[in-house]
Amino acid sequence: MAWRYIPRKRRAHQAPKGIQQHHILLTSPARLLSLSTAPKWPRPLIIPCVKTRRALLRPSASTPLRPPPLRRASLFLLRTSWSINTKYLADAGHKPILLEARDVLGGKIAAWKDKDGDWYETGLHIFFGAYPNIQNLFGELGIEDRLQWKEHSMIFAMLNKPGEFSRFDFPETLPAPLNGIWAILRNNEMLTWPEKVKFAIGLLPAMAGGQPYVEAQDGLTVSEWMKKQEKHGSKMAFLDGNPPERLCMPIVDHIRSRGGEVRLNSRIKKIELNPDGTVKHFALTDGTQITGDAYVFAAPVDIFKLLVPQEWSEIMYFKKLEKLVGVPVINVHIWFDRKLKNTYDHLLFSRSSLLSVYADMSVTCKEYYDPNRSMLELVFAPAEEWIGRSDADIIDATMEELAKLFPDEIAADQSKAKILKYHVVKTPRSVYKTVPNCEPCRPLQRSPIEGFYLAGDYTKQKYLASMEGAVLSGKLCAQSIVQDYNKLSLRSQKSLQSEVPIAS
Ligand SMILES: Cc1cc2nc3c(=O)[nH]c(=O)nc-3n(C[C@H](O)[C@H](O)[C@H](O)COP(=O)(O)OP(=O)(O)OC[C@H]3O[C@@H](n4cnc5c(N)ncnc54)[C@H](O)[C@@H]3O)c2cc1C
Repeated sequence: MAWRYIPRKRRAHQAPKGIQQHHILLTSPARLLSLSTAPKWPRPLIIPCVKTRRALLRPSASTPLRPPPLRRASLFLLRTSWSINTKYLADAGHKPILLEARDVLGGKIAAWKDKDGDWYETGLHIFFGAYPNIQNLFGELGIEDRLQWKEHSMIFAMLNKPGEFSRFDFPETLPAPLNGIWAILRNNEMLTWPEKVKFAIGLLPAMAGGQPYVEAQDGLTVSEWMKKQEKHGSKMAFLDGNPPERLCMPIVDHIRSRGGEVRLNSRIKKIELNPDGTVKHFALTDGTQITGDAYVFAAPVDIFKLLVPQEWSEIMYFKKLEKLVGVPVINVHIWFDRKLKNTYDHLLFSRSSLLSVYADMSVTCKEYYDPNRSMLELVFAPAEEWIGRSDADIIDATMEELAKLFPDEIAADQSKAKILKYHVVKTPRSVYKTVPNCEPCRPLQRSPIEGFYLAGDYTKQKYLASMEGAVLSGKLCAQSIVQDYNKLSLRSQKSLQSEVPIAS
């Protein structure tokens, strides 16, 4: 069944609702149809990436199948693109060094444990069925069982009926994009027939991944692309626990097992150059200098723009980054004194002006499971006006929105459910904002500076800023380095020769 409306009365008898029900999720129709389910729902098939890892890293015919490793590849990598780039370079036999500025792994998926042992995160993160590179990564690390797939649905709060939800259910029996169209057509609560027709027409380009994505498909027609779409693309999964331990540590262990290094508290302060404009070394805030045969900068674009050397600033590749600017986002966690009933084991779209999506993590995530009290994790966005406000103000505003979503259970003055504690995590510059004409400003991973590369969700790849985009960018970056092996090793030999003292 598609898009089913769940009357509040009926839901009230189902406790805990979330566990047996399906929910909503989504940001935009485009995301919706290009996206994908876990313990009790089957996971999507692992989809081979654009290129398999082996194909991706295979050097060109002119280089040996597995070239001798570069002395070192100084990598400034991070969370997703970071460790991915490092991982695949290590897989290719190189010796990567990953430098992370903070004392925590994960970047935008970083999380911290509070004094009670509860985790709070930078962002509520959802993994979609349409994330082939991430699924392959989980498979390669042998941790695919850590993705908790949910029922193939999207659940939206209904603005005109406080406390009620409407849903899009994607039938398992239909292939994409028909399952998405079916889900839309079967929903009568949120869309009138004229709206459905307009929505379906509007979704067609979205189904094709958006114009930038189509452009990136090099030679594929839209119909060829659509044939390749995954039936489970809009299925969603939650990680089964805190990202640093459940996802980042296995990657770090993998890198170290292949001779690579991961260093925390290693913040790059400056990119020092040689007289010819190439990178001499990365200078860290603690005074250390990191030298390598290839350099990757995988920090967020806003940070990279601050560190672009003066000598490079007029090069169009770097100059056009100005257009890419991160948006502020706030992630809110509230622990309540009771188990809320009006939740589901899924991501929920609040359709509120302040909250985009939320989930009862005491239901959706194994490590955070609690049978007696709910922990709501909410993405508070748009956050421009709120990023400078106090945590208490943000919680007050969140509670007012929650009172509309849980009219029987939550009141803004806490006369119903009481807050036991909360954590507010602000990210002043999150993923880059998609504005008209920003797509051509996304840089390729290989820069015009020999031996210098970029990685990160903002760099050129077929996805918008996302975990999948970050992983793909790391793979593309590693691929570029492997392809450049001959050039890089020649540079490395020359630099070694110039360091050899002349015998007297
Ligand atoms: C609230 C929120 C919710 C999100 N939800 C989703 C979702 O549901 N699904 C999804 O796919 N994506 C989601 N995203 C986006 C996703 O998290 C990012 O696209 C992705 O994690 C970016 O990875 P990255 O490797 O490009 O950059 P980052 O994760 O930002 O990593 C950059 C790293 O560089 C380090 N660094 C910075 N400066 C320096 C320096 N000078 N020296 C050394 N290291 C440095 C940082 O500490 C950090 O570890 C969400 C993001 C947010 C903020």
